[in-house]
Amino acid sequence: MTDNKRDIRGLSQEALIQFFEENGEKAFRAKQVYQWLWQKSAQSFDEMTNLSKSTRALLDDHFVFNLLQVDLMQRSVDGTIKNAVKLHDGALVESVLIPTEKRITACVSSQVGCSLDCTFCATAALKRMRNLSPDEIYDQVVVIDKQGKEYFGRPLTNIVFMGMGEPLLNYQNVLSAIDKITDPKGLGLSPRRITLSTIGVPKLIKKMADDEVRFNLAISLHSAIEEKRAKLMPLAHKTTTLADLRESLQYWYAKTGKNVTFEYVIWKGINDQESDAKALAKFCGAIPTKVNIIQYNPIDNGPYTQAPQEAVDMYKRILENKGIITTIRHSRGQDIDAACGQLANKGEE
Ligand code: SAH
Repeated sequence: MTDNKRDIRGLSQEALIQFFEENGEKAFRAKQVYQWLWQKSAQSFDEMTNLSKSTRALLDDHFVFNLLQVDLMQRSVDGTIKNAVKLHDGALVESVLIPTEKRITACVSSQVGCSLDCTFCATAALKRMRNLSPDEIYDQVVVIDKQGKEYFGRPLTNIVFMGMGEPLLNYQNVLSAIDKITDPKGLGLSPRRITLSTIGVPKLIKKMADDEVRFNLAISLHSAIEEKRAKLMPLAHKTTTLADLRESLQYWYAKTGKNVTFEYVIWKGINDQESDAKALAKFCGAIPTKVNIIQYNPIDNGPYTQAPQEAVDMYKRILENKGIITTIRHSRGQDIDAACGQLANKGEE
């Protein structure tokens, strides 16, 4: 067998057991291999030292590792690290390590490019090429965990799906990667430390609730007024109305008991009026929510500018008056185009 060998990490534990049994090996070997793959993040069969040479050769005959490579690593003055990651087929995605006093956060990509067309986001200018596989998502996390230890002396603590792509449009693979990351037989990270950020696809939000996921949900809202959101996020508007989004979030809350975070940028002349803030406060009334006001990160040829501080203060006042927790997220890694909405493979030009 040569060229068309499968990545071994595409196999479930059950499929591995079957493979071993078909090849006259004991089933418990499959468990050992599974541990090597997902708990110890092995990247070759040679590392699997509790397997005999012949078992390793059997695996090598049938499977490969489609490893990713960090093609370019850039460091921001604030410590943020951006990785341009080359996948086995040459496609590029970016992932970011964001260090704070207490955390090492990995911001990972879920697709090569993005099929959305949010008018304020640099990734939107890239076409969606393909979905990432579970191991390609997992490997970004492993790279950042290693970089955390190497450059900051600390392991990874949190993961946000806020890199390139729309995670809900790659539902199965994203959930399967999160499984490997959270499973005690995998990396064992608590799902409470993982946040999936999405434009909000109602039927998939309901599916996540039905699937009883335990990670956090963040919705990129940016306006609670239909016509305004339609201009900012045309495809999101084609996908859903705010009323349907609201209803799906109520379903989510009823099933999971977990609140939701709204991500929100305030732009000058776009959504910086009291009426905008009041519409948001009203929308938040649907279920317990937090609002995360994100600083706008300018993109090339973008028509937008960040609203002045007074507008941010006004939002905070109106939201907090209604008892809604409101945080302000300052940008990290702007100087290397590593901040939200700036991931567009620019370092690779
Ligand atoms: N597709 C997903 C995840 C990727 S974007 C989503 O839309 O949620 C991660 C966050 O960055 C989203 O909230 C997005 O709206 C925001 N964002 C995009 N471009 C931005 C920019 N130029 N400045 C600040 N935030 C931006």
